[in-house]
Amino acid sequence: MSEDKPASNFIREIIAQDIESGIFGGKVQTRFPPEPNGYLHIGHAKSIVLNFSIAEDYGGTCSLRFDDTNPIKEEQEYVDAITKDVRWLGYDVEEKIYYTSDYFDTLHEYALKLINKGLAYVDDLTADEIREMRGTLTEPGKDSPHRDRSPDENLNLFDKMTMGEFPDGAKTLRAKIDMKSGNLNMRDPVMYRILHSPHHRTGDKWCIYPMYDWAHGQSDSIEGVTHSLCTTEFEDHRPLYDWFLENLGVHQPRQIEFARLNLTHTVLSKRKLIQLVQDGHVSGWDDPRMPTLSGLRRRGFPPGAIRAFCERIGVAKAFSTVEVGLLEFCVREELNKTAPRVMGVLRPLKVVITDYPENQIEELEAENNPEDPGAGSRIMPFSREIYIERDDFMEDAPKKFFRLAPGREVRLKHAYIIKCDEVIKDSNGEVIELRCSHDAGSKSGGPTADRKVKGTLHWVSAAHAFDAEIRLYDHLFMEDDPDNDPESGQKKDFIELLNPGSLETLKGCKLEPSLLKAKAGERFQFMRLGYFCVDSKDSAPERPVFNRTVTLRDAWAKIKKKQAK
Ligand code: ATP
Ligand code: MG
Repeated sequence: MSEDKPASNFIREIIAQDIESGIFGGKVQTRFPPEPNGYLHIGHAKSIVLNFSIAEDYGGTCSLRFDDTNPIKEEQEYVDAITKDVRWLGYDVEEKIYYTSDYFDTLHEYALKLINKGLAYVDDLTADEIREMRGTLTEPGKDSPHRDRSPDENLNLFDKMTMGEFPDGAKTLRAKIDMKSGNLNMRDPVMYRILHSPHHRTGDKWCIYPMYDWAHGQSDSIEGVTHSLCTTEFEDHRPLYDWFLENLGVHQPRQIEFARLNLTHTVLSKRKLIQLVQDGHVSGWDDPRMPTLSGLRRRGFPPGAIRAFCERIGVAKAFSTVEVGLLEFCVREELNKTAPRVMGVLRPLKVVITDYPENQIEELEAENNPEDPGAGSRIMPFSREIYIERDDFMEDAPKKFFRLAPGREVRLKHAYIIKCDEVIKDSNGEVIELRCSHDAGSKSGGPTADRKVKGTLHWVSAAHAFDAEIRLYDHLFMEDDPDNDPESGQKKDFIELLNPGSLETLKGCKLEPSLLKAKAGERFQFMRLGYFCVDSKDSAPERPVFNRTVTLRDAWAKIKKKQAK
């Protein structure tokens, strides 16, 4: 799957050592464990690619496990969306989809085992009381008055909890570890809570649900995971992960932590992404401006480019933020090789070629992709009236503006060299049409075909082009780091930092006729404008709507920038 040989990293080094020492019998098994309470985003992709590529490279297996322990926030919709996204990224999980909820019986037996060993107890304290007695980083916690219940009493109470005899929050099952531990996670963490709430898979069977820390390591163990890769916020949970497994005397995977991905100009916190969706700041989880995999897919990002990006950023322990430009670079790199070139005009300006016969139509051959000779060619109709991009004409053009201006020449891609003879304006002085003449020998194969002119423009034949809606996207957030802006010293609410210009919808764009049949999800390079993808939701047969995936690099914008300096 990995396009290049993956770079080594500290996780691969640990795994290589484990294979050599034979601690897991030379086996490698990883997993990706999402909680089905939101859609996957580009940060999850980092974890997915890491887990699946490591399993593949070491001849092991990787599974998808839904960490579905919270019936209140979880839904089947999320399970379906996550499965779809993992498959789309290119990983076959067909027989390796697991659910923590499938282990609820085993987890319950494990809990009885710890109770019998005097290592777990039923507590009557409320959640608030538990929090208050937990202490702080500098102060030890206090023992619960129920801490020394006998195993028999605990078994009896736990049974009643399980049978639904207590209301929500009335009791918990806690591990009996050490209320004075320097690690807060070891201060008698809650294993089970009472929640009279149906679960999307187990229905009404349970009214006690395991907490993350109690469920996670045991699920890894039950599945036979060897290397449990997670993000660094779980580093402080590792002693607890190990404590449960050691005291149960079951298979103990090795937990290894790596830094989560942060990306500029976006947020990757699930809570914030949910807020963007619920408060209508975006059109949904798959809004093409969202950093979700469904959003990136709809925007036109190919899965291979996302994998290449994840391989390129590598994994480390240290926190870092990656430029979104790197992700866009990976997208361009792939699409440059694979996307057919076409012509479309976003903001049309009419051009009449006055010396071209009125009813003549020529069928010009246009190659589909200069990077891929196998991609073939198509026919572009050419006629007397065409559209060019409004930005490609300037009345008082500076010297370095290598496009059309009064008296200047440009080449029309795959067609003729034209010269601007006359500028037509409306009563407000706005340019509405150009009158040009053409060099009839300048098309491919003609006597003046090789004549050099500085600029080449894209165009469409006015009579043959069709109108389409096109959406242009910019960063969802204006600032680099909308999560946090330490430089300014002030923390604004991230909603205030939304970019009001992140979506621009253009109607009446003029596209070449070959695009009329373009299908949802198909990707193209609109020459000189960028890469575009047919929107999968709002398009209809013969009425494609296009989303701009990324721009091409714009030489003129660079020159303007330099001049501004
Ligand atoms: P929550 O705060 O709801 O737990 P989460 O982003 O951690 O959100 P999970 O569904 O628990 O969501 O994540 C599944 C896996 O993806 C976990 O192993 C987690 O460590 C990993 N993951 C989540 N966010 C990132 C990220 N930004 N970079 C790398 N890995 C991530
Ligand atoms: Mg998580």
